[in-house]
Amino acid sequence: MTRMIFLMDVDEVLAEFCKAVVALVEKQGHEFHKPAGWDFFSDMDPELRSRVFKEIEKPGFCLNLQVCDGAVEGVRRLRQLGCDIYAVTSPWDGSLTWHYERTLWLKEHFDIDGKKVVFAHDKSIVAGDFFLDDKPYNVVAWANLHLQSRAMLWDTPFNQDSTARRSIAQYTNVSRVKSWGEVIGIVCEVLRNKETAR
Ligand SMILES: [Mg+2]
Repeated sequence: MTRMIFLMDVDEVLAEFCKAVVALVEKQGHEFHKPAGWDFFSDMDPELRSRVFKEIEKPGFCLNLQVCDGAVEGVRRLRQLGCDIYAVTSPWDGSLTWHYERTLWLKEHFDIDGKKVVFAHDKSIVAGDFFLDDKPYNVVAWANLHLQSRAMLWDTPFNQDSTARRSIAQYTNVSRVKSWGEVIGIVCEVLRNKETAR
């Protein structure tokens, strides 16, 4: 079986980060407003943002994130196809426990070993056959440096703006995916092409 490196974002793809942040905002007595673009923290009132950040940085926040629907099965199917799963995730700089908890969480829910967890703000430095992330900037930056590989933008309510649409449309190695079925479909297509090229 052809071994393929699959680089997987964590927040919004595997872990329900936004849902947890919305709950924190509501706990502070505020209503959550959907932002115009991807970064919903930048639209937040600075004082509220600082209180929300303090909660995110407390021990236990990262460890208690819920698993996204369908993600366990999606990762299982990717492994069956020969994908070696690496988590590529941004660090949370203000938290003393984020790295440790994220590593534990990935092992517990997805059996991803700590040796296969990469913490990086700039994810484009990591090479692989596939890259899946919900942040348009990450997907475009990665696709631009790894033109022979396939990048996928995980569709969320926060990456629908026209800038995101325009930027990903420039790349033929980027697809917007709305389900694990579509992710699997792209991996199968690459596998078929590899077989044909032999
Ligand atoms: Mg993400």
